[in-house]
Amino acid sequence: MEENKILEKLLATDTSKVADRKDAQSLTSELKEELNKHNYYYYIKDAPIISDADYDRLMKNLQILEGKFPDLITDDSPTQRIGATLEGGFKTVEHGEKMLSLQDAFNYDELKDFLERVYKDLGLPEDEVEFVCELKIDGSAVALVYEDGRFASGATRGDGIIGEDITQNLRTIKTIPLKLLKPQIPPRLEVRGEVYLAKDEFEKINMQREEEGLATFANPRNAAAGSLRQIDHKMTAQRKLNIFLYGAATNPNLSIENQFKLLSFLKDIGLRVNPNIRKATGFEQIKEYIENWRDRRRDLQYETDGIVIKVNKFALQQRLGQTSKNPRWAAAFKYPPEQQTTKVLDITVNVGRTGTLTPVAVLQPVRISGSTVSHATLHNEDELNRKDVRIGDWVLVHKAGEIIPEIIMSIKERRNGTEREFKMPARCPVCGSDVERPEGEVAIRCTSLACPAQQFERIVHFASKPAMDIDGLGPAVVEKLLNKKIIKDSADIYYLKYEDIATVENFKEKSTNNLLDAIDASKSKPLARLLFAMGIRFVGSHIADVLSSNYENLDDLIQASFEDLSKIYEIGPRIAESITTFFKQDQNLKIIEKLKAAKVNFGSEIKNISKKAAFTGKIFVLTGKLSSFTRDEAKEIIEKFGGRVVSSVSKNTDMVLVGEDPGSKLDDAKKYEIKTISEEDLKKMIESND
Ligand code: NAD
Repeated sequence: MEENKILEKLLATDTSKVADRKDAQSLTSELKEELNKHNYYYYIKDAPIISDADYDRLMKNLQILEGKFPDLITDDSPTQRIGATLEGGFKTVEHGEKMLSLQDAFNYDELKDFLERVYKDLGLPEDEVEFVCELKIDGSAVALVYEDGRFASGATRGDGIIGEDITQNLRTIKTIPLKLLKPQIPPRLEVRGEVYLAKDEFEKINMQREEEGLATFANPRNAAAGSLRQIDHKMTAQRKLNIFLYGAATNPNLSIENQFKLLSFLKDIGLRVNPNIRKATGFEQIKEYIENWRDRRRDLQYETDGIVIKVNKFALQQRLGQTSKNPRWAAAFKYPPEQQTTKVLDITVNVGRTGTLTPVAVLQPVRISGSTVSHATLHNEDELNRKDVRIGDWVLVHKAGEIIPEIIMSIKERRNGTEREFKMPARCPVCGSDVERPEGEVAIRCTSLACPAQQFERIVHFASKPAMDIDGLGPAVVEKLLNKKIIKDSADIYYLKYEDIATVENFKEKSTNNLLDAIDASKSKPLARLLFAMGIRFVGSHIADVLSSNYENLDDLIQASFEDLSKIYEIGPRIAESITTFFKQDQNLKIIEKLKAAKVNFGSEIKNISKKAAFTGKIFVLTGKLSSFTRDEAKEIIEKFGGRVVSSVSKNTDMVLVGEDPGSKLDDAKKYEIKTISEEDLKKMIESND
């Protein structure tokens, strides 16, 4: 069977339902082989070809089978072993004490099971067992040996028994001290921790690799592991790795009785310890810690994929012991996966309101970060080519919280030759018009203003919350009104009658009246909203605000020349060009006429703006202590009236606002013969303009 098919079968199988021993035997050997293959890609090549979630599912399936048929458990089963067999390249070292993995808890039921087992094995009630909760740093485990307080050697976890000697590479990590702080540390101290890459460093490395045409890393963890295991330690040095220490190998010379105190000892001797630790007793307190970090962890500079919960007292840890793979006194609670592997079923092209053609991958639906993902944008032609995503490809998809799903990479190793490359169309897929890619831009655009896809997107945008905020006029309703040819453009919204809306299914009397009211209410929205709603290229809500505070009404703005517009601070040539082009097009002017006839507000809230233009294009500098307003307020006022505040005086400065105890800027103003004004002068100027 083809490799992908075997994997799909193994993922789809519910091994808890397998009753026949023969079936169990063959599935077990397939699962072992599959898991070992992925261990190799993950631990040796640092480039997984399936998501962690899929790997964890395969592992669970194997554990279930081995639980039902214990005689199928072999020493080399991935359920019994840590990591993967080492590949050579580094000197190997045998760990004095095994470096273990952690048992997982993927939900609160599994966490409760772990806690129950701990209480039962210790024969202690819940309130007598204290835990320490730590963030699970998503990096690569290392052991560091200090002899007489000096860093002597360091190794990877490897298969838990034998690791790779990466001393030289570890020496390049600036946060690993070569000498410890306190003299009273044992003559030999082995500490353990996680080497990781900060999120921004990870982005940088991947960008650089992309430029060099190298395969990118799937996540910071693989990047950290890959960087740590560079044969040339100068390469490791370039990667700005970092470390958190969270443990120590058993040491008779260390009289510390619990994990919490150990962490504080490690910190005291100069090692880097994560500060976000907490003691917790009982399920509820642990849950509180988990919930506290569920979203907050996204603001951390490093990746965490879960929480580690450890029995605090070492004496109790010893009583609980360990399996061949995990300590029985600790567990990793894993947050829902934010990455998944899935298949690209198709690539389609979406036409946006400005006519931009966006390639979108249609995915085999997959659960990520708590929701089902079935589409992911590929942004533009360059991105599509750079990521080399093909129809039929397996891809790694990322989604964190509310963030839009994104394809991280296509997995070339899983191609079987049936994948099809996708080329962006030469014609608009909706209206068949020519498309163009303006020089210097990444976007391909449909050239027809009458393109129905653009019309649809434009009307949806016009009615959306940050624009005219017409509640009840969402994409589904717009689509129906367009299909029934009741509306053709945004202005037609204001001519809708009760009967028109009532023809759209699901609209009853109340909802129809509500929509008519919302449409009516939107007529008096500020001019800035209308400008944003019109969907002029490069005019977002901020630029719409800037425009509406420089023009008294829409008619004045329509008359504005490229030069007039360019004088306004924040309006560069690109925006000015886009605005003048927009207002030259007949089709847009017709819509504007219809909006006017429907009595949609065209006036800006600020009156007499024409007078205010006195500040337009003027450059101000502030010096000295102001008494009537703060510097920020003064800046805001000047900007509101079209001016701009810069920090130093030059011959281009128009006015210097002078407060008490002015600095050298006043001297500069004199030197360049620039007009100086007082706060009172500024106030008068504003009043005469208001
Ligand atoms: P793990 O990452 O789930 O947890 C164990 C590790 O957590 C420890 O070895 C340690 O390095 C680390 N850790 C981080 N912070 C810690 C702290 N505060 N205290 C203690 N330990 C801390 O286990 P693992 O054995 O390293 O990796 C197994 C996981 O790796 C799997 O569950 C899977 O998600 C992933 N994996 C994926 C693939 C794939 O193909 N996608 C292949 C193999 C493994």
